[in-house]
Amino acid sequence: MNVRLYNTLGREMQDFTPINKSEVGMYCCGPTVYNYAHIGNLRTYVFEDLLRRALEFNNFNVNHVMNITDVGHLTGDADDGEDKLEKSARETGKTPEEISQFYTKAFFNDIDRLNIKRPNTACVATKHIGNMIGLIKRIEANGFTYSAGGNVYFDTAKFEKYGDLALLDRQKLRAGARIAVDGNKKNPADFVLWFTNSKFENHLMQWDSPWGKGYPGWHIECSAMSMKYLGEQFDIHCGGIDHIPIHHTNEIAQSEAATGKKWVNYWIHGEFLLMEKQKMAKSAGNFITLQTLVDKGYEPLDYRYFCLGGHYRSQLVFNFESLDAAKNARNNLNERVIKLKTSVDATAIENIDSAAGEIFKNFKESVCNDLNTPKALACMWQLLKTNEVSEADKLSVLYEMDKVFGLQLDSLEADSVELTEEELCIVKERENARAEKDWTKADELRDKLLELGIEIKDTAKGAEYKKNK
Ligand code: AMP
Ligand code: ZN
Repeated sequence: MNVRLYNTLGREMQDFTPINKSEVGMYCCGPTVYNYAHIGNLRTYVFEDLLRRALEFNNFNVNHVMNITDVGHLTGDADDGEDKLEKSARETGKTPEEISQFYTKAFFNDIDRLNIKRPNTACVATKHIGNMIGLIKRIEANGFTYSAGGNVYFDTAKFEKYGDLALLDRQKLRAGARIAVDGNKKNPADFVLWFTNSKFENHLMQWDSPWGKGYPGWHIECSAMSMKYLGEQFDIHCGGIDHIPIHHTNEIAQSEAATGKKWVNYWIHGEFLLMEKQKMAKSAGNFITLQTLVDKGYEPLDYRYFCLGGHYRSQLVFNFESLDAAKNARNNLNERVIKLKTSVDATAIENIDSAAGEIFKNFKESVCNDLNTPKALACMWQLLKTNEVSEADKLSVLYEMDKVFGLQLDSLEADSVELTEEELCIVKERENARAEKDWTKADELRDKLLELGIEIKDTAKGAEYKKNK
């Protein structure tokens, strides 16, 4: 089955064909580690994880690279404002390294709790300054830069395809549709590759460069690090939709100006999580972290389930009623899976019956059709509810589905309690009867244990006895 994805570049659904069959290169813009990730950011990382899992489910081997931004991301998108890390350091009396180490750890803790697979490579910007300088030199050698007021700028007028990703109107851009705060720019859309001239005099993070001591612009890190780990051309680049008009547009311009080749084939963007019709943002005072949800009694996977309920290209409105509905649905799912687990062993997936096979096929189609997780979830519920599929087949298909959903169904365990002395005696008696091949007695004792609410699973390795809370 072909995987079909909506490519922002060209705005159409396309069959996914990797450059190299043996490995899919996937780059995702990562966090700027000056604060905790909010649940809006986490929605984007859940979507990227689902995309990776969907590709792996379709037998692609994914090389997933993500940057950790610890320098160069300014508080304003038009090269204005202060470096976010420097600002946070100044306000808290810590060093930028202390800030980035703390929030990087918090970020990985969040994604682990959401069962988001860690990237194969998580690359830290400040550890790749040499790669960025090298790339800027190539862009400069190809004639796409100018220096003004001490900074090195990318000259967008020289790059023919500037703005294609975002369908930007170059005429309007030139006329100043985006207000240029920086008087050194020839065009409002031009952007800084290397800052040597910071209005914040005591900028702590500075490096030597051919253009003077300074620090890189934010966009260049993604171009430099993705090329280092995935090559000069790779398959997929992801992020939230807010990155389309500036960050990703500028990443493409720099990368293609440096290499003279098409850089990325598929641009896949996730829509925003909204707070009751408003964008979630720190400035709007509606900043919710994963820990906020945990403190309110939710499990991180309740939020993951909530995200699965919305298609990644649709806005998703967050409120606690919807999160409660996700939590209840997940509890219900878990209970059913535990019940199945305690009563049957999963069939090997290649041996499932046709009724289960039909539902599984629909599930696969939903996943392959631009990652339609709401439809895939509906297939899962259909499977749980139908009487036409055996319990063993249900369990088998559920485990397969969960390779994409990532709800950790295979590690679910019923909350069990210890057996009493008396119950243990009966267990022992039954085991003796079985050893003596006294099947009548063993069966009688089995019934007695069942009456006491003890579940028995006779496996190849012997019998297991469990009593649930
Ligand atoms: P940042 O740390 O600001 O660079 O953002 C990290 C990721 O979260 C980026 O891919 C953003 O596009 C994405 N993002 C930011 N806000 C939201 C939101 N409200 N909903 C979904 N994704 C978001
Ligand atoms: Zn990026």
